[in-house]
Amino acid sequence: LGSARTLWELADRRAALTPSRPVLLQGDRVLTFGELRARAERVAAGLYGMGVRPGTVVAWQLPTRVETVLLSFALARLGAVQSPLIPYYRDREVAFALRGSKAEFFAVPGVWRGHDHTAMAHRLGARGVFEAYATLPDGDPAVLPPPPAEGTAVRWIYWTSGTTSDPKGVLHTDRSLIAGGSCLAHALRLSAADVGSMAFPYAHIAGPDYTVMLLLYGFPAVLFEHFALPEALAEYRRHGVTVAGGSTAFYSLFLAEQRKRPGEKVIPSLRLLAGGGAPKPPGLYHAVVREMGVQLTHGYGMTEVPMITMGDPGDTPENLAATEGRPPEGMEIRIVDGEVRLRGEAVCRGYLDPAQTAEAFDADGFLRTGDLGRLTPSGHLVLTGRLKDVIIRKGENISAQEIEDLLAAHPAVADAAVVGLPDAERGELVCAVVEQPPGAPVLTLDEVVTYLRAQGLSVHKLPERLEVLPALPRNDTLRKVLKYRLRERFSPPCPGTGQD
Ligand code: ATP
Ligand code: MG
Repeated sequence: LGSARTLWELADRRAALTPSRPVLLQGDRVLTFGELRARAERVAAGLYGMGVRPGTVVAWQLPTRVETVLLSFALARLGAVQSPLIPYYRDREVAFALRGSKAEFFAVPGVWRGHDHTAMAHRLGARGVFEAYATLPDGDPAVLPPPPAEGTAVRWIYWTSGTTSDPKGVLHTDRSLIAGGSCLAHALRLSAADVGSMAFPYAHIAGPDYTVMLLLYGFPAVLFEHFALPEALAEYRRHGVTVAGGSTAFYSLFLAEQRKRPGEKVIPSLRLLAGGGAPKPPGLYHAVVREMGVQLTHGYGMTEVPMITMGDPGDTPENLAATEGRPPEGMEIRIVDGEVRLRGEAVCRGYLDPAQTAEAFDADGFLRTGDLGRLTPSGHLVLTGRLKDVIIRKGENISAQEIEDLLAAHPAVADAAVVGLPDAERGELVCAVVEQPPGAPVLTLDEVVTYLRAQGLSVHKLPERLEVLPALPRNDTLRKVLKYRLRERFSPPCPGTGQD
């Protein structure tokens, strides 16, 4: 099935193979592979009746539900260009994305979690607004033109998290997403007997990536419209989830839940936690394996390349704990001046803005990831930080991640972010921002410096400023720390702005 040219062809072939096996489980709802194909085709006909044609740009901002997956496959059936938006985005991000993608249609959930998406869409002057929550467009598939014959055209516009600057519109093809999903499937050593789960928004690029895996192997996944523990745990147990997919932040949630019930396996059927997308806290691997009694594998991906490396669950504990695994076949990794660069079928076609595309690819066609890393002699990737996360103090490069890892291991620190702040004398100064667990004694700069020195951190890297926050600012998708917010908040005001 991995040779399918398009996402629709993959869904179609899977439906022919195992029509009555379930693919999506949500609450009491079950959707089979056969129903996925048949219902998506009716939705495609409905969309066609509304004027959606191959190549029409359709943005959607919908929660993680069966209907959303159907709409997404209907668009794939038509050969439309879809631009998924995270449901938590508000006016600023949505307007930015709609303008960037020039969407001709915009599917919204109506009022969802107290927010009126339809009103927002109209306020922003969105074109072709329609609701796709409880009901979907419907029509007779007989009207449909044939499905797209090739998977090499740009059919997906995803938006990056905007961690380093404004979000970038990333162009993907059906082939790049199928390549990403196939890599993931091979890395995880799955079988048709598995039961997966998606603990991330379907609008994230991990959505289709994960779904490709379900289509290849023919097993189902549990979806969550609202992901909250402990309710979600009951769903994991009810459906017998064996492989839990999610972001790094979710592992920590599971672990916290497990710690409330020592001696009892919180999800008895679970064998593997598989996820990634953000640095993993030090010690997490060993804690999960020891306390939860399940295997953990962590991977590295980005909107531009959803699956770059993934730990093989059969690898050694050392490699699983300390690396992001190895690249799959077909993914070339090069380290140039410390930066990870990539080439392969799963790499995006570029960005909406051609200037960003020209800047992002090097002369050999490798994508500059902006991430710092190194390859071990066995070919495992170790990430050491982000290019833009290097603090340059008096001309010395300081990795924020090195300091963050040490801070995160401190018992009175729940999480830490280290940023460079502009400083007239030193260029930048090192500012540590820590999130402390409730009830922990409030740390001082002196205590932090003494601790970091005792851990062996070089003197020139020691923080000069400490800020303690009840919670670090994070994005809603993967709970990533938004460092630009910290820089904005703690930077001295610019001279000449009249502030003091
Ligand atoms: P922007 O590109 O707009 O600044 P972003 O890069 O955070 O935002 P994403 O595409 O969502 O947007 O995130 C990809 C980045 O996440 C990677 O480039 C990398 O820095 C980080 N990341 C992903 N997986 C891991 C991992 N396993 N360990 C450490 N960092 C990771
Ligand atoms: Mg990025």
